[in-house]
Amino acid sequence: MSDSNPCLSCGACCAHFRVSFFWGECQSAGGVVPDDQVVLITPHRVAMRGTEQKPVRCTALLGEVGQGVRCTLYEQRSSTCREFEASWVNGEHNPHCDAARSAHGLPPLMPPVLPSVSPERVA
Ligand code: SF4
Ligand code: SF4
Repeated sequence: MSDSNPCLSCGACCAHFRVSFFWGECQSAGGVVPDDQVVLITPHRVAMRGTEQKPVRCTALLGEVGQGVRCTLYEQRSSTCREFEASWVNGEHNPHCDAARSAHGLPPLMPPVLPSVSPERVA
């Protein structure tokens, strides 16, 4: 994760959505997510502790949303966390990122502005 990662000064999604996933991702089932960091929400699904309640805030999130944050379980986070990408980081818009940021009073991330290249320079 580089310093330019917008998530390091955000964290809104970790304090907005219920972060749920199949219980098989937990350590006791052979996965990586520590069991004491989750709560059972259905017979086969768990949620990150703190995201199953209101106000939502994953207990693994350190720092202040919109200022500076860190996931204390970064290497052990679930597939749900791994697959949730900030808008435009990989060229695609993620409206759920926008929604989480908006809920915390943060503007949506904007796509990068590419420098204009004249046809002569391309040829
Ligand atoms: S809401 Fe978007 S920018 Fe903020 S931490 Fe989540 S993915 Fe990153
Ligand atoms: S485990 Fe980390 S990335 Fe996932 S919701 Fe919690 S703080 Fe966010």
